[in-house]
Amino acid sequence: MQPQQPQGHSYQVVTDALIRRVGPPPHPRDPMQWTNYLCPVHEADGQHHNPSLGVRYDPREGKTWVRCWAHCNDEEVLERIGLRVRDLWDRLPERDPNQQRSNGIHGQRYGVAERRALTPVERAIAAARFPILNKPDLGAQTGPAENVDTYVYRWHTDQIEGAVFRMRTPHEHGYAKSFWQARWTGTEWAKGGFAPIPWKLTDIREALDTGREIFVCEGEKDVQAANRAGLIATCNAMGAGSWTPEHAKWLRGAARVIVVADRDRPGYQHAAKVADTLIGTVGEVRVMQARVGKDLADHFAAGHRTEELEPVKHLDRPHPQRFREPTTRVRTRNR
Ligand SMILES: [Zn+2]
Repeated sequence: MQPQQPQGHSYQVVTDALIRRVGPPPHPRDPMQWTNYLCPVHEADGQHHNPSLGVRYDPREGKTWVRCWAHCNDEEVLERIGLRVRDLWDRLPERDPNQQRSNGIHGQRYGVAERRALTPVERAIAAARFPILNKPDLGAQTGPAENVDTYVYRWHTDQIEGAVFRMRTPHEHGYAKSFWQARWTGTEWAKGGFAPIPWKLTDIREALDTGREIFVCEGEKDVQAANRAGLIATCNAMGAGSWTPEHAKWLRGAARVIVVADRDRPGYQHAAKVADTLIGTVGEVRVMQARVGKDLADHFAAGHRTEELEPVKHLDRPHPQRFREPTTRVRTRNR
């Protein structure tokens, strides 16, 4: 019931991240004693070293200590394993912005008042216990970026507004993905953003007309997966964090919207924001997630069905919501 992370959580997070980056320690010891790992800053070159990054847990402070005996910078050490300084404490990773920062970061944990101030998305993230995933080391770039898909954004009139270009760049150990967007001037693509319209507006209009449910995903790849499963789906350009109330306006009056959250922190934050902009303007909002993997594409790829999506704890509020019957739109089933 408590959103506070359990004792030792920070030690788990830090050692998991280190093991992924530099491998397990040759001489593991009790968490309360220093265990030496290879330092991800000065010993991660694949050569033999006597490990010089000490890690130990302090249960009294609920803190994990990380120290390179060769004096590498602490923050740089953490950065190399995908962590931040606050990950050294057994507490929620996000501080409530409404709370004063008067306590500083040293050894302070959430007080009762702060716990009460947690938002649903903070609770959801805490409950999900996401692993700290490091970006895989892809090595050096081995070739130019190539365009692997283009997602065209059109107005409900079918007029082209802009596009998102999905790129991949070959590296020694795989591909790096990236996106860029451009606006259609009528004659050519002008690099840069475009009007905040959801993808597949004509599908959204169809859902509004027929009362079908609309799935809101985090990216175009998931929308395509949803479409293949026979669903009406949409997303905003440029992924998590880029949904605005302007996008939400286009869904007003929908019978039911299912927000599919990617299973990571930005994904939960994104889904919460999408849901917040829709509640009260559509019949029902659910916040669901893949049963396996990270997103809807993974869910379907693993052979799961739409009905097997799982509600996101703390974000999904399935009880009947205020339903403001859309007055301006008449549902017609024969179109
Ligand atoms: Zn070091």
